[in-house]
Amino acid sequence: MIELIFATNNQNKVTEVKSLMEKHIQVKSLQEAGIDIDIPEPHQTLKENAIEKSTVIHRLFSKNCFSEDTGLEVDALNGEPGVRSARYAGDEANNEKNIQKLLNNLNGNSNRNARFRTVISLIIDDAHFLFEGICEGTLTNETKGNKGFGYDSIFIPNGDIKTFGEMDLEEKNKYSHRKKAIFKLIEFLNNYHGKN
Ligand code: IMP
Repeated sequence: MIELIFATNNQNKVTEVKSLMEKHIQVKSLQEAGIDIDIPEPHQTLKENAIEKSTVIHRLFSKNCFSEDTGLEVDALNGEPGVRSARYAGDEANNEKNIQKLLNNLNGNSNRNARFRTVISLIIDDAHFLFEGICEGTLTNETKGNKGFGYDSIFIPNGDIKTFGEMDLEEKNKYSHRKKAIFKLIEFLNNYHGKN
Protein backbone atom coordinates (compact mmCIF):
# COMPACT_ATOMS: atom_id res chain seq x y z
CA MET A 1 0.00 0.00 0.00
CA ILE A 2 1.26 3.46 -0.94
CA GLU A 3 -0.09 6.41 1.04
CA LEU A 4 -0.02 9.84 -0.56
CA ILE A 5 -1.27 13.20 0.63
CA PHE A 6 -2.97 15.16 -2.13
CA ALA A 7 -1.89 18.75 -1.49
CA THR A 8 -5.10 20.57 -2.39
CA ASN A 9 -8.05 22.20 -0.69
CA ASN A 10 -10.20 21.81 -3.81
CA GLN A 11 -12.79 19.14 -2.97
CA ASN A 12 -13.76 18.77 -6.66
CA LYS A 13 -10.20 17.75 -7.50
CA VAL A 14 -10.11 15.32 -4.56
CA THR A 15 -13.35 13.66 -5.74
CA GLU A 16 -12.07 13.34 -9.32
CA VAL A 17 -8.69 11.96 -8.29
CA LYS A 18 -10.17 9.45 -5.84
CA SER A 19 -12.57 8.19 -8.53
CA LEU A 20 -9.51 7.26 -10.62
CA MET A 21 -7.24 5.71 -8.00
CA GLU A 22 -6.33 2.06 -7.69
CA LYS A 23 -6.93 0.26 -4.39
CA HIS A 24 -3.28 -0.05 -3.41
CA ILE A 25 -2.76 3.73 -3.61
CA GLN A 26 -4.40 5.50 -0.70
CA VAL A 27 -4.97 9.19 -1.31
CA LYS A 28 -5.65 11.49 1.61
CA SER A 29 -6.80 15.06 1.09
CA LEU A 30 -5.25 17.78 3.25
CA GLN A 31 -8.47 17.83 5.24
CA GLU A 32 -8.36 14.06 5.82
CA ALA A 33 -4.72 14.35 6.87
CA GLY A 34 -5.72 17.05 9.39
CA ILE A 35 -3.67 19.70 7.61
CA ASP A 36 -5.21 23.17 7.55
CA ILE A 37 -3.05 25.29 5.29
CA ASP A 38 -3.55 27.64 2.37
CA ILE A 39 -0.89 26.80 -0.21
CA PRO A 40 0.30 29.66 -2.45
CA GLU A 41 0.45 29.55 -6.27
CA PRO A 42 2.90 32.40 -6.87
CA HIS A 43 4.60 31.31 -10.09
CA GLN A 44 4.28 31.94 -13.83
CA THR A 45 4.00 28.29 -14.88
CA LEU A 46 1.76 25.37 -13.90
CA LYS A 47 4.87 23.26 -13.35
CA GLU A 48 6.42 25.68 -10.84
CA ASN A 49 3.12 26.06 -8.97
CA ALA A 50 2.60 22.30 -8.79
CA ILE A 51 6.14 21.84 -7.47
CA GLU A 52 5.62 24.64 -4.94
CA LYS A 53 2.46 23.02 -3.52
CA SER A 54 3.96 19.56 -3.10
CA THR A 55 7.21 20.99 -1.73
CA VAL A 56 5.40 23.04 0.94
CA ILE A 57 3.58 19.95 2.23
CA HIS A 58 6.67 17.76 2.04
CA ARG A 59 8.82 20.33 3.85
CA LEU A 60 6.29 20.68 6.68
CA PHE A 61 5.20 17.07 7.14
CA SER A 62 7.92 14.90 5.51
CA LYS A 63 5.25 12.73 3.88
CA ASN A 64 4.97 11.33 0.39
CA CYS A 65 2.61 13.66 -1.45
CA PHE A 66 1.52 15.08 -4.74
CA SER A 67 -0.15 18.23 -5.98
CA GLU A 68 -1.48 19.47 -9.26
CA ASP A 69 -1.98 22.77 -11.04
CA THR A 70 -4.41 23.14 -13.91
CA GLY A 71 -4.98 25.86 -16.48
CA LEU A 72 -7.26 26.54 -19.43
CA GLU A 73 -5.30 27.70 -22.49
CA VAL A 74 -7.34 29.53 -25.12
CA ASP A 75 -5.77 29.84 -28.57
CA ALA A 76 -7.55 33.07 -29.55
CA LEU A 77 -6.26 34.65 -26.30
CA ASN A 78 -2.65 33.56 -26.87
CA GLY A 79 -2.88 30.81 -24.26
CA GLU A 80 -4.61 32.92 -21.60
CA PRO A 81 -5.80 32.48 -18.88
CA GLY A 82 -3.37 29.53 -18.50
CA VAL A 83 -1.59 29.63 -15.17
CA ARG A 84 -3.83 32.57 -14.15
CA SER A 85 -7.05 30.58 -14.63
CA ALA A 86 -8.08 30.65 -10.96
CA ARG A 87 -7.60 34.42 -10.58
CA TYR A 88 -8.48 35.46 -14.12
CA ALA A 89 -11.16 37.93 -13.00
CA GLY A 90 -8.96 39.35 -10.21
CA ASP A 91 -8.58 38.80 -6.49
CA GLU A 92 -12.35 38.51 -5.98
CA ALA A 93 -12.61 35.97 -8.80
CA ASN A 94 -15.03 33.07 -8.72
CA ASN A 95 -16.02 30.58 -11.41
CA GLU A 96 -18.85 32.74 -12.71
CA LYS A 97 -16.74 35.91 -12.97
CA ASN A 98 -13.86 34.04 -14.59
CA ILE A 99 -16.14 32.52 -17.22
CA GLN A 100 -17.82 35.87 -17.90
CA LYS A 101 -14.48 37.58 -18.39
CA LEU A 102 -13.30 34.81 -20.71
CA LEU A 103 -16.44 34.92 -22.87
CA ASN A 104 -16.31 38.73 -22.99
CA ASN A 105 -12.66 38.67 -24.07
CA LEU A 106 -13.45 36.12 -26.76
CA ASN A 107 -16.25 38.43 -27.90
CA GLY A 108 -17.75 35.93 -30.33
CA ASN A 109 -14.35 35.06 -31.87
CA SER A 110 -14.86 32.08 -34.21
CA ASN A 111 -11.63 30.39 -33.07
CA ARG A 112 -12.95 28.50 -30.03
CA ASN A 113 -10.02 26.09 -29.66
CA ALA A 114 -8.76 25.58 -26.11
CA ARG A 115 -7.19 22.97 -23.89
CA PHE A 116 -7.02 22.07 -20.23
CA ARG A 117 -3.53 21.25 -19.03
CA THR A 118 -2.81 19.56 -15.70
CA VAL A 119 0.67 19.21 -14.24
CA ILE A 120 1.16 16.86 -11.30
CA SER A 121 4.16 17.08 -9.00
CA LEU A 122 4.90 13.93 -6.97
CA ILE A 123 7.37 13.72 -4.11
CA ILE A 124 8.09 10.17 -3.02
CA ASP A 125 11.04 9.06 -0.87
CA ASP A 126 12.34 12.65 -1.19
CA ALA A 127 12.54 12.44 -5.01
CA HIS A 128 10.51 14.65 -7.37
CA PHE A 129 8.59 13.53 -10.49
CA LEU A 130 6.29 15.37 -12.92
CA PHE A 131 3.33 14.17 -15.00
CA GLU A 132 1.20 16.09 -17.50
CA GLY A 133 -2.27 15.57 -18.98
CA ILE A 134 -3.87 17.60 -21.77
CA CYS A 135 -7.46 17.65 -23.02
CA GLU A 136 -8.12 19.47 -26.31
CA GLY A 137 -11.53 20.96 -26.98
CA THR A 138 -13.63 23.97 -27.92
CA LEU A 139 -15.39 26.70 -25.98
CA THR A 140 -19.12 27.38 -26.15
CA ASN A 141 -20.66 30.87 -26.37
CA GLU A 142 -22.63 30.36 -23.19
CA THR A 143 -22.55 28.08 -20.14
CA LYS A 144 -24.17 24.66 -20.41
CA GLY A 145 -24.70 22.24 -17.53
CA ASN A 146 -23.88 22.58 -13.85
CA LYS A 147 -22.35 19.24 -12.98
CA GLY A 148 -18.68 20.18 -12.98
CA PHE A 149 -16.63 23.02 -11.56
CA GLY A 150 -14.40 25.84 -12.75
CA TYR A 151 -14.65 26.29 -16.52
CA ASP A 152 -16.37 22.93 -17.14
CA SER A 153 -19.66 24.49 -18.29
CA ILE A 154 -18.07 26.19 -21.34
CA PHE A 155 -15.67 23.42 -22.46
CA ILE A 156 -16.55 20.65 -24.94
CA PRO A 157 -13.81 18.01 -25.22
CA ASN A 158 -12.95 16.92 -28.76
CA GLY A 159 -14.92 13.78 -29.65
CA ASP A 160 -18.07 14.79 -27.78
CA ILE A 161 -20.91 17.29 -28.13
CA LYS A 162 -21.55 17.94 -24.44
CA THR A 163 -19.66 20.32 -22.15
CA PHE A 164 -17.87 18.86 -19.15
CA GLY A 165 -20.57 20.65 -17.15
CA GLU A 166 -23.20 18.40 -18.73
CA MET A 167 -21.27 15.21 -17.99
CA ASP A 168 -21.23 12.89 -15.00
CA LEU A 169 -17.81 12.32 -13.49
CA GLU A 170 -17.49 8.99 -15.27
CA GLU A 171 -18.04 10.67 -18.64
CA LYS A 172 -15.64 13.53 -17.89
CA ASN A 173 -13.05 10.95 -16.90
CA LYS A 174 -13.14 9.52 -20.45
CA TYR A 175 -11.51 12.69 -21.74
CA SER A 176 -10.12 14.72 -18.91
CA HIS A 177 -6.68 16.27 -18.57
CA ARG A 178 -6.67 15.31 -14.88
CA LYS A 179 -7.42 11.67 -15.69
CA LYS A 180 -4.58 11.55 -18.22
CA ALA A 181 -2.11 13.01 -15.73
CA ILE A 182 -3.34 10.76 -12.90
CA PHE A 183 -3.06 7.65 -15.09
CA LYS A 184 0.58 8.53 -15.76
CA LEU A 185 1.11 8.90 -12.00
CA ILE A 186 -0.56 5.53 -11.36
CA GLU A 187 1.51 3.82 -14.06
CA PHE A 188 4.66 5.27 -12.50
CA LEU A 189 3.66 4.08 -9.02
CA ASN A 190 2.80 0.61 -10.33
CA ASN A 191 6.39 0.32 -11.53
CA TYR A 192 7.94 2.00 -8.51
CA HIS A 193 9.77 -0.17 -6.01
CA GLY A 194 11.14 2.37 -3.55
CA LYS A 195 14.56 3.89 -3.32
CA ASN A 196 16.29 0.72 -2.17
P1 IMP B 1 -6.06 25.48 -9.93
O1 IMP B 1 -5.38 24.33 -10.55
O2 IMP B 1 -6.71 25.10 -8.64
O3 IMP B 1 -5.17 26.69 -9.82
O4 IMP B 1 -7.27 25.86 -10.87
C1 IMP B 1 -7.17 26.82 -11.90
C2 IMP B 1 -8.54 27.23 -12.38
O5 IMP B 1 -8.99 26.27 -13.33
C3 IMP B 1 -9.63 27.35 -11.33
O6 IMP B 1 -10.49 28.39 -11.70
C4 IMP B 1 -10.33 26.02 -11.40
O7 IMP B 1 -11.68 26.12 -11.01
C5 IMP B 1 -10.20 25.71 -12.89
N1 IMP B 1 -10.12 24.26 -13.11
C6 IMP B 1 -9.21 23.39 -12.60
N2 IMP B 1 -9.47 22.14 -13.02
C7 IMP B 1 -10.58 22.23 -13.80
C8 IMP B 1 -11.35 21.26 -14.49
O8 IMP B 1 -11.09 20.04 -14.48
N3 IMP B 1 -12.41 21.74 -15.17
C9 IMP B 1 -12.74 23.06 -15.21
N4 IMP B 1 -12.06 24.00 -14.57
C10 IMP B 1 -10.99 23.59 -13.86
